[in-house]
Amino acid sequence: MKRLKNFNFFAEKGCNFVTFWYNSSIGYKVVTFQKEIGFVNFMFSDKLFSRKVLSVVLCLATVFVTGFCSYKIDSRLTALRVKYSGKVIATIKEKAEFDDAVEIVSRTVCGSNVSDALEEPTYTEVLVTEDQLNNTADVAQAIIENTDEIAQAYAVTVNGEVFACMTEPEIYNLLDEARCRFEQGENCVSSFTDTVEVSCGYYLADQILSAEDTRAALETLSVETSFTAVSEQDIPFNTVKEKSDELLMGKTQTKVAGKKGKKTVSEQVVLQNGKEISREQIAASVTEEATDAVVLVGTKRPTGTVRVNTGFVFPLPKGVWTVSAYYGDGRGHRAVDLACHAGTPIFSAASGTVEWAGWEQGGYGYSVVINHGNGLKTRYAHASALYVSKGQQVSAGQNIAAVGKTGYATGNHLHFEVLINGNRVNPAPYIGL
Ligand SMILES: [Zn+2]
Repeated sequence: MKRLKNFNFFAEKGCNFVTFWYNSSIGYKVVTFQKEIGFVNFMFSDKLFSRKVLSVVLCLATVFVTGFCSYKIDSRLTALRVKYSGKVIATIKEKAEFDDAVEIVSRTVCGSNVSDALEEPTYTEVLVTEDQLNNTADVAQAIIENTDEIAQAYAVTVNGEVFACMTEPEIYNLLDEARCRFEQGENCVSSFTDTVEVSCGYYLADQILSAEDTRAALETLSVETSFTAVSEQDIPFNTVKEKSDELLMGKTQTKVAGKKGKKTVSEQVVLQNGKEISREQIAASVTEEATDAVVLVGTKRPTGTVRVNTGFVFPLPKGVWTVSAYYGDGRGHRAVDLACHAGTPIFSAASGTVEWAGWEQGGYGYSVVINHGNGLKTRYAHASALYVSKGQQVSAGQNIAAVGKTGYATGNHLHFEVLINGNRVNPAPYIGL
C-alpha cells in the first residue's frame, strides 16, 4: 500500500462545512465536518478562537487520527512475494496471477517455446496493504527484465516473418548496406523485392545474431537496383546503290564511303541482384549525323572474245574459270568442264539457232544446244539460268545462260560439248585449250 501521499485539505470560506480528502489506493475518502459543531468557525473565523473551541478541535483531531490508523491496520492482507531468478520481483495475491503474467510474456516475446526459457518462481507469504500489490502487466515486465534468455532486440522482418535479430541499432546500417550492395555510381535507386521492415521488441536470446551473421543473412535478400546510364552510340549509315553502265554486271564499286554518326543515349537500366533485367531508352540526341554510302552497281553485259584461229568465242569470260575435267578422262567424259562461280555468263561459241533450251535428260540439267549449221552443234549444260529459247537466232558471244550446277553436277561449272554430225568431239581445239 502506498503511503498517504495526498492528504488534501479543502475548505471554502463561507461554506457550511469543511471537507478532508485523503487519497488511498481504493479512492478518495471524504470526511465532512458540519458547521454546527463549530469547526468551521475555528478554521476560518477572523477572531481569536476560544479555548472551548480549541478543545473541541483537538478532540475531533484525535478521533480522526485514531480512525485513520485503525483503517490502515484493518486494510492489510495476506499476499505472496514472488522470487524469480534469485530476485524478489513482485507481490501478488495468488499464484494464478503469475501464470497470467507468463501468458503475457509469451505473447510479448517473439519466438516459439518462450515458456521454456522462463524459470520457476518461489513464493513467500507476506502481509501487505492493497497498494503494495503488483498488477499482472508489472509482473510480466519484471519477468522479461529478469530472464537472461530474453533480450530487447531489433528484428528485420521479411513479408512479416522474423528474418534476423540483433541487439544493436547497427542493424539499420547493415540493412542499407544489403539494399545498396549492387549500386554503381550516384544515381542508383535500390529497393528490396520483398517487404522488409525493422521492428523493435523482445526476442529469445537464441534468435539473436552477431553483426557478421546478420550481414551475411541480409545479403541473401533479393534487391532491385535501377539507374540511368548515359552512353555515346554509333548511328549506322545507309548504303545507296547507283547503276553504272561502265561497270561489268555483277561488279560493284564504292563511289562515296559511308560514315557512322554519333548520338548520346540515356537509358533506364534495372538490375536484379546485380544482373541486368531491363534497359529502356529514355532519351537520345544526335551529336553527329551519319553520311550515306554510295555504291556503283555494274550493268554492262559482258561479251566473249572471238578466237581468231577457229572462229569460236570462248564460252566464258576471261580468267574466271579453271578446267575441272577434260574430254575423254577415265569416265568417258565427252566434253570439257570449266569450273567457275555460279551466275557467270555463258556465251554462245558461234552464231546459230537455238535447238534446245530447257531441262535436259541425261544429267545435263538446264542446258542449251545451238545448231551452227553444216553439222556443227554446241551444248552448254548445268546452267542456273537460261536467257534464250528454242528457235531463237543467236550471235557469237551472246550471253545465252548462267553457270550453275543443275542436273548431275557436284559443283558450279559449265559442261561444254562440240558435236559434229551428232558425235561429240574434243572441244579443246575449238576453244584453244
Ligand atoms: Zn561435264
